[in-house]
Parts: sequence; C-alpha cells; structure tokens
Amino acid sequence: MIIIDGSEGEGGGQVVRNACALSLITGQPFRIINARGKREKPGLMRQHVTAVEAACALGNATCEGLAVGASEIAFTPGKVVPGEYRFAVGTAGSTGLVLQTLLMPLVLADLPSRLVLEGGTHNMLAPPFEFIAKTFLPILNRMGPKVEARLVRHGFYPRGGGRIEVDITPAPLIPIECVERGTLRECSVTAFVAGLPFDIADREILAARKALDWPEESFVVRQLPEDQGPGNIVLIEAVFDDVTEIVSGFGQLGVPAEAVARKAAGRMAGYLESAAFAGPYLQDQLLLPFALAGGGAFTTVKPSQHSLTARDVIERFIGRRAVFMDQPDGAHRVEWR
Ligand code: ATP
Repeated sequence: MIIIDGSEGEGGGQVVRNACALSLITGQPFRIINARGKREKPGLMRQHVTAVEAACALGNATCEGLAVGASEIAFTPGKVVPGEYRFAVGTAGSTGLVLQTLLMPLVLADLPSRLVLEGGTHNMLAPPFEFIAKTFLPILNRMGPKVEARLVRHGFYPRGGGRIEVDITPAPLIPIECVERGTLRECSVTAFVAGLPFDIADREILAARKALDWPEESFVVRQLPEDQGPGNIVLIEAVFDDVTEIVSGFGQLGVPAEAVARKAAGRMAGYLESAAFAGPYLQDQLLLPFALAGGGAFTTVKPSQHSLTARDVIERFIGRRAVFMDQPDGAHRVEWR
C-alpha cells in the first residue's frame, strides 16, 4: 500500500487525481492522509469526490472513507473496463479535472471509450475546455492514442450545466520530444460573455489590445446563449507549428474586466518571451503521459509547485523521476530518470 501525505508539496486536489489514475494503471492501492492539506478548507471537495467516484466506477475500484470533507481515503483499484460513461460533477465542479483523473487509464485500456462529463467547462484554477482540446490533447495524440473532445454546452461557476464529450481510442504511449515550438502562425484574443453585459467583453478586448501588439482582427467578442451563463472568460491563444498555448482570464465579481484581460495578456507575453514549449499548466499536465510513455522530453518555463508535487506522486507509483534541467536560453528541459 502506497501512503501519500496530501499536505506535502502543493498540497491540493491534483495529488488525489494523479494517485487515482496511477493506481488504476499500475494496480497498486494507495492511502492518502491529509488530503488537500495545504488548502484553506482542507479535505475533499465535491469535485474531488466525483473524480474518485468516477475512477471507482470505470476501474472497478473501492474507496474507503470517500466523502465531502474527508481528509483520509484508501483506494483499492480493480480492472479498468473501457466503454461509455457519463459523470455529472455536482455544483459547477470542473469537467476538465474529472477528465484528468480518467483519461490515462482509458488511453491505456484495450478498447475505445466515450465519456460524457457534465458540470463546469470554464472554471477558475482548472483547464478550460479549449486548453484541453487545443493545447493538451494534440500532444497526447502525438504519443499514439486518438482522443477527441467536443464542447456541447458551456458551464461556468457557480451555475455549471456544461457538457463535454470525449472519444478515446487507446494506444500504448510512445516517448516523444517536444522541445521546439516552431513558428508563430496565428494569435487571437476572444472575450466570451454569457448572460452578462456585452460591455464586459468590450472592455476586456480594449485592455488586451493595449497590452498585446497583435493585428486588429485577432481580437474578437463572442456572446454565448444567455442560459449558459452567467459567465465571462478571456482566452488568449498563440498557435505555433508544434504547440498551441492558451492563457485564460476568468471574470470575477469585484475584479474589473480590464484587470482580468491585462493579467492574462501579461502571462501570454511572458510565455512568448520565453523559449519554452510548454507553459506553466501544460507543464504539470504533460508529466503523467510522458512518465507513462517511459521517457521523451519537453522544454518548459520555470517548474511549478504543482509539477514538482506531481513528479513525486508519479515516482511513488512507477519509480520514474522527472528531472528539470536549466537550459542556456532560460527554459527548462524535462527528462525522465
Ligand atoms: P485545489 O482546490 O486543491 O487547489 P484542484 O483540485 O482544484 O485543487 P489543483 O490541484 O490546483 O486543483 O490542480 C489544478 C489543475 O488545473 C492543474 O493540472 C493545472 O495545470 C490546471 N489548471 C489550472 N488553471 C489552469 C488554466 N488557466 N489553464 C490550464 N490549466 C489550468
């Protein structure tokens, strides 16, 4: 039994999701103590419970102690059964984070699967749908499997009600090298509003235009059906030959629209100045597939606390450790030992 202290390192929900995925893949049970121990409100939240329940359902696993607020659970994996599954994250919990838990076990299964996930599709502190579809999945697909995701309906916090569908054709993961971005081909800033004044999106676009010296036609406002709101997000996208980076800014009550856009634009500018392939979020999300592929390499920005924690959890299950090496151009190269 692998024992994980969930208060170590980043001390958040990703430790739980990665542990479930790795347990289903390797067949090793684990116990986590102090789950989400570094969060203001420690213990599992509704969305983490849904992710673990979903892992139990498709992996014939059992989990002792699973409940909202639980800080200790014991997970015993069974056999992963590919197929069609539907999971609804109560409240507006992130569908993307449930997908993070289930994807690798299904990618390594012996038959295709289809997932229908309902809840939030554009949540703060989680990958928005476009990041999954355009940033993460193209890299995973280069490693062998074929995974396609569709956004059926947007879901914003707190209302939720979104829906994504994911078709997974499994394949063994092969190691790849992702060290160069290639040439920048397209860039865009899209401000989405649903059930909120249009003016919010206009102000975001204006602020983003001041911050990014991009052609006028790169800036777009999109109004979503009112019943998919209330919600607001700014997505800033840079499409290179070999990778697409998407930076998001989430509209929040009490935060001026200009500040949301300026902050996101600043983060995109930082990525563009670096020579790295993977931005800070793609970085932690690539660790699991690369480790399961048994190697390969990618370059990235400064290692995040999320990544260093994910690296430790991965090593506990498969004995392979990611090393981050400083590069002369300021990027970091990630390899496996
Ligand atoms: P907690 O509430 O405990 O912090 P959590 O379960 O909400 O936990 P984290 O442990 O913080 O989540 O993990 C968040 C995951 O979402 C990470 O994989 C991170 O890369 C990803 N993520 C967060 N924000 C973004 C974003 N703006 N774009 C892409 N991915 C993101």
